[in-house]
Amino acid sequence: MSNYQLFQNDLPLQSLKSFKGDITIDTETLGLNIKRDRLCLIQLRNESNKKVYLIKFDKDISPANSKNIKSLLEDKSLTKIFHYARFDMAVLKENLNINVRNVFCTKIASKLTRTYSSKHGLKDLVKEILNVELDKTEQTSDWSQKKLTKQQIQYAMNDVIYLSDLKKNLEAKLIEAKRLKTFKSIMNFLDTRVELDLMGWENTDIFAHK
Ligand code: MN
Repeated sequence: MSNYQLFQNDLPLQSLKSFKGDITIDTETLGLNIKRDRLCLIQLRNESNKKVYLIKFDKDISPANSKNIKSLLEDKSLTKIFHYARFDMAVLKENLNINVRNVFCTKIASKLTRTYSSKHGLKDLVKEILNVELDKTEQTSDWSQKKLTKQQIQYAMNDVIYLSDLKKNLEAKLIEAKRLKTFKSIMNFLDTRVELDLMGWENTDIFAHK
């Protein structure tokens, strides 16, 4: 297994200085209901030195204990690369009151460029673009247990180690398709989309006629 560091509830303050440019990030929760299922784990990779950090959260998770990760994710000078940012951003807002700034969502980039495909899952992109077979078997495991298994840690890391290569590939596709400006506008709208999700409009297209 490649190298990683595991922390409880927050990153150490001195680690923040080492972040430059891009950060890839993912979260694991107790389930898919943001209001019911708490945040259990944040995985991130500092793309300037390829270091992976795993931050595990207690059941009494609170913004007061996680100030460093908040300031890192709210730093506008660092790009946060997610796959399906909408979900992770809502989770981070709901659990830790984090307003993630400067986001690149590989799922939206894929939808705007790979119009020949209906498959925009992380596994599909990693297979097609990077020719790597991703194992998703730990996806539904219990992320709240005291000690994570080796398999869980490997799975958690797999969800962040390919995102930077995907971003490079998809960014080129966005430029080629002349859709980079549209993509950026969507990224700027994401915090409003997340706000609507958390206000109860998660299953409504607010722009729809009916
Ligand atoms: Mn994941």
